[in-house]
Order: sequence, then structure tokens, then C-alpha cells
Amino acid sequence: MHGAKKSLEPRRINENRILQRDFNKIDRTDFGAKLIESDDFKVDYSLGNNRFLRIRLLHPDKAEHICGADLIYEQHNEETGKIRVMFLQYKIWDDGILYFSAVNNLEAQLNKMNEFICGNKICESRKLKEGEKDYRFPYCSAFLRPTDKLQQQNEKIISSGIHIPVCSIIEMIKNGEKKIDKRYIRHQALTQKIFEYLFNKNLLGSNWIGEDQLEKFYKENGLLSTDDSIKYTHGK
Ligand SMILES: [Zn+2]
Repeated sequence: MHGAKKSLEPRRINENRILQRDFNKIDRTDFGAKLIESDDFKVDYSLGNNRFLRIRLLHPDKAEHICGADLIYEQHNEETGKIRVMFLQYKIWDDGILYFSAVNNLEAQLNKMNEFICGNKICESRKLKEGEKDYRFPYCSAFLRPTDKLQQQNEKIISSGIHIPVCSIIEMIKNGEKKIDKRYIRHQALTQKIFEYLFNKNLLGSNWIGEDQLEKFYKENGLLSTDDSIKYTHGK
């Protein structure tokens, strides 16, 4: 009895372990994604209707330095040959507060992400037809993910945290704010409970980008080796 109770208590696990867990250990069924297969650097899920979710874990020594992100989410549409993306950077915070000064080079990292992703028009909105309305979140595709230090023991459950567009944080820093406080940021941030689901449903994250265009962009920036393809080729 004592043992069972103990295993339900959240425990402190470090950033890398949380990242590894969220990358390919958790069960994403509730987000509409069914696991197909995974290796050390990518994991693939089926979303139904010839759509697939691929999550890439960026190596901290290499790719992360280029774009400032830890994970890339890609939604592939095999029929149209297009891909939607979003980029996440994890940061562990203490009791729901992240002091900007406590993170080494945070502003530089955020600017890098912003330049790399927003600056390369990955966040560009979809062109709407006249009179058309777009019921979704902004197309911004670069997020900081303040993540709680204490996490469930159960490896299948995604870590708790929130997602804030990098541009909003850059704006906060410019306005002289010193920290992100969970209690006051709810209106600008989404929790782990709905974030991935919204991405999978195309209510959040980038617009569709042509495979060739995205592959070229990845290769030019060292996110994909020159002999690798970005195309989803499972079972072919
Ligand atoms: Zn953006």
C-alpha cells in the first residue's frame, strides 16, 4: 500500500528526461495520434486520412543551436505533399515562475528562434478569400514551453506545462517585464491538455508548406542531412 502511494507522487526529473519522455514515451491517443514507430531522433504517428504526425528531437549540441528549439512537430499530408510545422523550446520553471534573468541568454535564444522561424516566413498566415473567416489561433509556430519540475511518475502522460508564442515573450521583455508567472499568463498560453490536439486539428501552428520548400529550408540550416528526405515514406 505504501509503495503504491509513493509511485503516484510526482517527482523531480530533469529537463532532458522530461523532453525524452514527451518526445516518444507518452501516449498521444487523446491528441488524436496513434503511434507507428520511433527511433532516437524521430517518432511517427498516424492522424488518419493520410495524415501523419512526425516529432523530431533536435540534438542539443547541433540542431538546437541553429534554431533554438528542442522539438519540431510536423504534420504531413501525403495526398497534397504538404507539411505544417511548429517548434518548441522547453524550459523548466520553479513553481510556475520563470525569471528571465535565471536563464542564460534567454533573450538571445528567443531572438534566434524568432529570426529562424518567423523571420523565414514559417509563421505566415494563410491567404483568405474575400469574406472568408479563419477560426483558429495565429499561425505563429515558435513556442517557449515552461514546464513544471514536478511530473507524474507515469511515463505515458505528457509533462505539464504551458506554451507561449516566442514573439509574446520578446514583447514582454521589451516592455520591461522580469518574469513569466503562470497565474497571470493564462490568457496568452495553452496548457499541455489541448495544445497538441489543436495542432493536430490545424487550429494552431503553421500553414501548409510544400515538402520541397521545407526540405530545402531544413537542409540549408542543418536540420536534415543532405542525403535525407523530408517526405513521409512509412511502409513504402
Ligand atoms: Zn512567429
